[in-house]
Amino acid sequence: MFCKQFESLDELKRSVYLWVIPCIFIALILNTLMQNVDVENILDFIINSTLTVWFVISWIFLYKNRFIRFIEYSNLILISVYHVTTFFDAVHNYLNQIGGSLGDFIVWMPIYFMFVFLTLGIKRGFYFSIGIFAITLTDGITYMNRLSLVSIDSLFQYYFASFVYIIVFLYAQHMFKSCAKVEMFKKYAYIDALTGIANRHQIDEWLENKLNDCQEMHMSFSIIFFDIDHFKTVNDLYGHKIGDSVLKELAELIQINLTKRDLLGRWGGEEFIVITDVLGKDAERLAELLREKVEEHSFNGAGRLTASFGVTQSHTDDTIDSLLSRADEGLYQSKNCGRNMVSTIC
Ligand code: GH3
Ligand code: MG
Ligand code: MG
Repeated sequence: MFCKQFESLDELKRSVYLWVIPCIFIALILNTLMQNVDVENILDFIINSTLTVWFVISWIFLYKNRFIRFIEYSNLILISVYHVTTFFDAVHNYLNQIGGSLGDFIVWMPIYFMFVFLTLGIKRGFYFSIGIFAITLTDGITYMNRLSLVSIDSLFQYYFASFVYIIVFLYAQHMFKSCAKVEMFKKYAYIDALTGIANRHQIDEWLENKLNDCQEMHMSFSIIFFDIDHFKTVNDLYGHKIGDSVLKELAELIQINLTKRDLLGRWGGEEFIVITDVLGKDAERLAELLREKVEEHSFNGAGRLTASFGVTQSHTDDTIDSLLSRADEGLYQSKNCGRNMVSTIC
């Protein structure tokens, strides 16, 4: 479900940023308001205010889906500077002089590493995080012998937690990528690459499910099988590219003349199939309507074309093969009787 919602990492990232940035923004405002601005923490005030303003601008651009990469990199640079300077400040001025623990900035550490991985991707994100980790580790170790036990403990908690977050984000991103890939493969396994409608694999699955449902509930459905007339001539006269665009156009034309409940797929070549719940004369009328729509349409580069149709209705003892062979028989009849017509086989 999670992977289905976000089929690309970019979509996921944008959604995360749009939620997270306002929270960081509120936290920064609170932090700025609750600090007394004096000479000692004027640098904190400047950094906080710059970040606050920049987050507002970033959010607007992200919302409008503009300059995303620039926003990501500028945020990463600013947050990295903030992260490292706040860490230095905590170790030098607080742990070293006052003692105690690192303070509340480490609560934001997971978000920082999340930004790193989302912006730079798996490999570069890992190296960059390890680089930042190494900088903070070197700084902490330099001061270690001057710190109290409580401060040393706080530093070690920070290092271990940082390391765990880096590993967790590394694996999380790997998992998301594999999950998204599997979803993409699944999706394209059922879609015809040229026309974007269902392929034979999907049609087989639809027919199998429909036949099972119908046998269980003693209901029926119809299939309309159709094939473009003299399509070989289209390819011969205008070339394969035009032939391909005719197939795409035909798929669109048929799709817009069907209801949401009807299913359309490309059986192969220039043969298509519609699976519909309408029965008897209604199914025949639907096929007739589609035939007219094709006949009336002027195809880009190929002009007027026609198609022949075969219609049949499912029987309780049908298999996919028996059902399709009746529809094919109908199509064959239409072709034999001069094409551009609908034939029904009961
Ligand atoms: P009929 O009226 O009897 O159906 O004649 P036809 O020429 O349409 O039938 P035939 O089956 O002899 O030819 C089908 C042609 O469809 C042959 C093949 O080159 C073409 N074709 C099949 N798939 C594609 C495709 O993906 N793109 C293009 N451009 N042509 C295709
Ligand atoms: Mg044909
Ligand atoms: Mg054919």
